[in-house]
Amino acid sequence: MRQQFLPTGRVHYLPMSEVDEEGVVTSRITGRQRRIRARKIVDASFSKTVTPAMRPPPYSVAEGVTCVPSSELPRMAAAHAAYVVIGAGKTGMDACLWLLENGADPDSIRWVMPRDYWWINRETYQPGEEFFPRLVASIANGVQSLAEGATVDEVFERQEALGEFRRIDPAVKPEGFHGGFVSDSELAQLRRIRHIVRLGRVRRIDPHEIVLEQGTVATSPQMLHIDCSAIGIPPRGAKPIFEGNRITPQWVRLSQPTFSWSLIGHLEASLEDDEEKNRICRPIPAPDTPRDWVRMMAIELSNQYVWSRTPVVREFQFNSRLDPFTHRIRSMQPTDTEAKAHLERYGKFVGSAAKNAARLLAG
Ligand SMILES: Cc1cc2nc3c(=O)[nH]c(=O)nc-3n(C[C@H](O)[C@H](O)[C@H](O)COP(=O)(O)OP(=O)(O)OC[C@H]3O[C@@H](n4cnc5c(N)ncnc54)[C@H](O)[C@@H]3O)c2cc1C
Repeated sequence: MRQQFLPTGRVHYLPMSEVDEEGVVTSRITGRQRRIRARKIVDASFSKTVTPAMRPPPYSVAEGVTCVPSSELPRMAAAHAAYVVIGAGKTGMDACLWLLENGADPDSIRWVMPRDYWWINRETYQPGEEFFPRLVASIANGVQSLAEGATVDEVFERQEALGEFRRIDPAVKPEGFHGGFVSDSELAQLRRIRHIVRLGRVRRIDPHEIVLEQGTVATSPQMLHIDCSAIGIPPRGAKPIFEGNRITPQWVRLSQPTFSWSLIGHLEASLEDDEEKNRICRPIPAPDTPRDWVRMMAIELSNQYVWSRTPVVREFQFNSRLDPFTHRIRSMQPTDTEAKAHLERYGKFVGSAAKNAARLLAG
């Protein structure tokens, strides 16, 4: 902001402020108000994430219990010898990994896991030339699993067998999918934690007992309770991206927010008609369950199909450094035999994947 935008003289920056629907901006510090008039509003708040430090925990905490948001962990850990990590999303996982990395005994950690998630194998999605064949393999695996799975469960089992998806406990069927990544070395560390509490969400923490939806477990005032229960991306569904004088950026390609937003910006700068822009960019809602991954893939494949027939997008993709595939795929050499084979496999399965996704979602 200070180095790039403000020196142009074309940008006004109003930090620490709230804006309402009428365009009145109120400073959170001074309360000073000013009205802005905008030709277009880009509402980035629709994609706002939530972290534990941004709100109180969604359960009550009795006096004498130490319960802190995950961001306080480095400051608080040393004063405690045992820990309760509450929440099993990416934040809970990272809290456990941080404790283990810093030498905590796995048996000193109790991990509250209201439901298990499917995780994406970190290996499948790395930038750089040496990982390119694996990246293309991953794209091909996704459409092949989607094309061949008779049910959503089977699609996920195929993805797991192909090394795409992971779960913490192979004996537990995950009910959730939030699009988080885990590496196999992280997984090996997490599997050292034996005290996993699968009794639903926490309702209350008393000095000697944690009350959950389906039971209770013991605790003590000496334990450090680490709140990791913020729903990082609250489920909001999707809304049209281009609507009159409002633009609401959302994902238009899986796991690629920066590319998605840059494409939306490019379309806004290149085309006039909102209907046409919305046709090119269907938003992909954030996932909550395995079935949502199928929905995401269905929209993704439909968007890809439209983009492949829209020169203004093709050209942009080819030149965009935020697009990890298009330029690299177009410039493939005869020596790229492995990537080529995967690309052919992608071509073979992409049509049937789209059809099967529609069938699975209708079922
Ligand atoms: C723009 C963007 C970029 C991303 N990039 C990455 C990336 O680079 N790498 C990556 O790994 N992932 C990435 N993701 C995906 C991310 O990992 C997931 O969104 C992840 O689910 C966020 O984890 P979380 O812990 O914040 O929330 P959640 O997954 O929602 O976890 C919250 C946890 O708290 C639990 N909980 C809620 N209430 C209670 C309660 N009362 N008691 C006990 N537990 C409770 C829930 O059951 C859940 O286990 C990205 C997402 C977005 C939107």
